[in-house]
Order: sequence, then structure tokens, then C-alpha cells
Amino acid sequence: MTTNSHGNAMDATSPEQIIAAVLAAHPGEPACLTCSFQIEDMLVLDLLRAHQPGIPVLFLETGYHFPETYAYRDRMTALWHLNLVNVMPDYTVAEQEAEHGRLYRTDSKRCCQLRKVDPLMRALRPYRTWFTGLRRVQSPSRRNLAVSEIHVLPTGESLRKISPLALWDDKELWRAAHARGIEALPLYAQGYTSIGCAPCTAIPAAGADPRSGRWGGDHLECGIHTATVARGSELGAASPPRDPGNGAPE
Ligand code: SF4
Repeated sequence: MTTNSHGNAMDATSPEQIIAAVLAAHPGEPACLTCSFQIEDMLVLDLLRAHQPGIPVLFLETGYHFPETYAYRDRMTALWHLNLVNVMPDYTVAEQEAEHGRLYRTDSKRCCQLRKVDPLMRALRPYRTWFTGLRRVQSPSRRNLAVSEIHVLPTGESLRKISPLALWDDKELWRAAHARGIEALPLYAQGYTSIGCAPCTAIPAAGADPRSGRWGGDHLECGIHTATVARGSELGAASPPRDPGNGAPE
């Protein structure tokens, strides 16, 4: 039995059941997955594509990813025939660095805001359901993560945010990924445990928090999951309210 952030019990008990329950409860409503091509996202994606092979796969194309990440993204996109959506910032890396220098060194939170948070918040507007690969054990900042939440965008619009693996530990995750024959991003074999942009990702010290290698340990989140308010929601709950002005997604 899983719970939402209010501690309410929900019927779905496995990631497969959670995904099936959410999609069945909201037929025809646009859904997407954010995908960094880390193993959590790949597992959720593999489960989702059994229901919706063309589900939009939103990749935050910051321009700063590892070459291995880009190669893996392209390989898996071809192999799984993914509907990949590269979510682009307003400015190229060259334009941003010409204007501000290497923000990832001087003001990484602003860099993430410009290259991740702002573009994603815009990209999410057409959707009513946002699937993620987030898990509680990834970081202390995620210890209160719920399977089902409501995410409020800066516009005031909201959508349900579903994290089917929220309660899973590493062993459950990797066992399921291996069982489904999912090939992992090769950087894991080098010792990386949480993989984002290359300048802000390091191999964590042995036994350290998995996300401690991000941003030099300076912070644990880029702001995507903390920039807006999240409230608990039942899996089959009615759709969250949209913009009070027009009531419909664009
Ligand atoms: S993770 Fe680093 S390089 Fe990527 S957007 Fe954030 S600060 Fe910039």
C-alpha cells in the first residue's frame, strides 16, 4: 500500500499498478515524463511506453550534459522509438557564457533556473499529468516525496505529478531494471550515482548521499522540484485546476 503526502492510503501498490491506475483514471488527458536518462527515468519510461508508446519524453537540453549522456539518449531514443522532446533554454551555451560567463561556477542556482527550471515550467503547461523517476532515498531533500502530488506552475496552473518509484530503494530499482533488460547509462559503471550536467556532477565519496556529487555538494536540487508548491493528491482524483482564466491547457 502506498500513501500520498497526506498519509492517505491508495490502492496501487507497485509502480506498474500506479501507472496503470493513473492512466485509467484520466483517459485522454495529456501526460508526459521528464527524463534525464538515469536509470529511474528509464524504468518508469519502460513501464509507461507499454501503455503509451508515444508519450512525450521531456529531456532538459541544457547543453552541458556528458557526451555519454547524449550518446545514450540518442541510442535509446532510436531503440525504443521514443517521442523525445528536447526542452531548450532561451539562450545557447555560447550566448549565456558570453553574457554571464560560466554561471555554473559563479551562480549555479541561476544557471539551473535559466537552463532547467524556466524551460521546464513552460514545457509542462500542456500536460495534466507529469510522471517522474524521483525516489525518497535519492536525497534528504526528497525524504517527504509522495507518489502522487500536485505541482503548481508559476502561471498558477497545476498538474498532477506522479512518482511511481517514490518509495523504492536502490536494490528494488536495479533489480527491476535488470529484470526488464534495461541497458543503463554507461556512466554508472564509472561510479556515478546521480547524473546531471557534466560541470556539476562528480562521483560521490564512498557511502555518501547519492546526490552529494551534484553541484560540489553545495546544494541538492536544481529547483525543478522545489520551485513550486506541492500538495498531495489521490491517484484517481479529479484533474487539478488549470488557469482560472481559461480553464484549459494550451
Ligand atoms: S546543473 Fe550545472 S550546468 Fe546544468 S544547468 Fe545547473 S548549474 Fe548549469
